[in-house]
Amino acid sequence: MYRMKVMKFGGTSIGTPERMQNVAGIVSKGEQKVVVLSALSGTTNRLIEIINLIKHYRVGEARDFIYKFKREYDNFIFDLFSEQEYLDEAGSVVDRSFEIIRDFHSDNISTEKENEFLAQGELLSTGIFQVLLDSKGLKSGFLNALNFMRVDKDGEPDMFFIEGNLANCQESNPGKDIFVTQGFICRDYFGKITNLGRGGSDYSASIIGAAINASVIQIWTDIDGVHNGDPRWVEKTSPVKELSYKEAAELAYFGAGILHPKSVFPAQVKNIPLRLKNTFEPEQEGTLISAKSRKDRIKSVAAKDGIIAIKIRSARMLMAYGFLKNVFEVFEKHKTSIDMISTSEVSVSLTIDNPKNLELLLKDLQSFGEVEYDLDQSIVCVVGDFMADETGMARTVLNALAEIPVRMISYGGSMNNISMLIKSADKKKALESLHRDIFKNR
Ligand code: ADP
Ligand code: ASP
Ligand code: MG
Repeated sequence: MYRMKVMKFGGTSIGTPERMQNVAGIVSKGEQKVVVLSALSGTTNRLIEIINLIKHYRVGEARDFIYKFKREYDNFIFDLFSEQEYLDEAGSVVDRSFEIIRDFHSDNISTEKENEFLAQGELLSTGIFQVLLDSKGLKSGFLNALNFMRVDKDGEPDMFFIEGNLANCQESNPGKDIFVTQGFICRDYFGKITNLGRGGSDYSASIIGAAINASVIQIWTDIDGVHNGDPRWVEKTSPVKELSYKEAAELAYFGAGILHPKSVFPAQVKNIPLRLKNTFEPEQEGTLISAKSRKDRIKSVAAKDGIIAIKIRSARMLMAYGFLKNVFEVFEKHKTSIDMISTSEVSVSLTIDNPKNLELLLKDLQSFGEVEYDLDQSIVCVVGDFMADETGMARTVLNALAEIPVRMISYGGSMNNISMLIKSADKKKALESLHRDIFKNR
């Protein structure tokens, strides 16, 4: 059976009229495909700023902000289209979204309204992009993600619903070579508009790829693939050619900002390769993520901020069974997941990344003993395939961090990751030092 591909473009890839033209050129080539777009770069942040102004009753400022914001979109389409017909079509797309944006007042704030407001970012970019494809004579169909993308009660993608409804949407657009749809936005279990979280368009692309059993899911961004270090913190990083799903998932989860943390899983379930590509250098091969892995090396180092360390000391833990179970139940009750864990005879240390229910969580934990917690921690995560490593990888890693206080270490949870908990203030130094020591001969 014929398998389409999925191509997702992030905000920077379409953030200027020239860049959007460049993307139209990239998608015009080759076989049938689904194109998933984020909002233009900066748009989601701006929408959030406006929401905050409105929530704080700073109505005048919000109005000025929206006015300037609309002007930016008017200028964008003015630069993009020279023919009046297409300028008018794109103008209607912009007007429709800005009507919804203007309709958000301090007196009608609800989560649903807020999510509908945020959804305009992706509806704007995809609407304008489809007019661009039209203007080039390319046959495209517009798929509104709100008609097929849905999460269930637990916030997980409802694959059955998505597969059926996406197929219907595609069938009602016969003879099209390119299907254009939005990343990030979806509906919840009750049918209300919601989204997949910041950076969620990668996740959308992976879900869509799994739903249509795509031949490949391409994530096009502003860098030539996953690098062996975080280029925002370390100089002279270089792209990794191949990663296994497991390695990529660990990296995405532990802070490699290039991929949404959940975006590997849907592709992995269907064994569909993910290919990360650079929109600005399309000839570069980028990174291939698949079931295969090169066994011989540490692939990359990432770091995740905003970690909270919690330590529980309890004499009752001494040789007692069932203690950890009781502790875990508290985390389950407060819907807070644990990232790292380390135990000694009378204490257990854990990390979490979600402060939402921290106070209640700490209060409940106090029933077990003395509880301490520390904010502003980071997890530094070294990822690779360690089965084949015979050269003392743990030694290399710990040596590299000799000058930095390490609060917790986790090794052996999987053969793909060594994680260390450090203070966020030490993160840059830790990443640089690890990069220097691990990749010095490569
Ligand atoms: P998009 O808007 O296309 O979704 P993102 O900004 O979300 O792009 O992701 C790309 C950025 O991720 C890069 O510009 C880079 O700064 C950052 N990044 C963080 N860690 C890594 C890594 N290990 N490899 C490559 N890029 C990374
Ligand atoms: N536009 C959304 C965001 O900025 C989703 C995405 O870009 O992936 O988070
Ligand atoms: Mg992103």
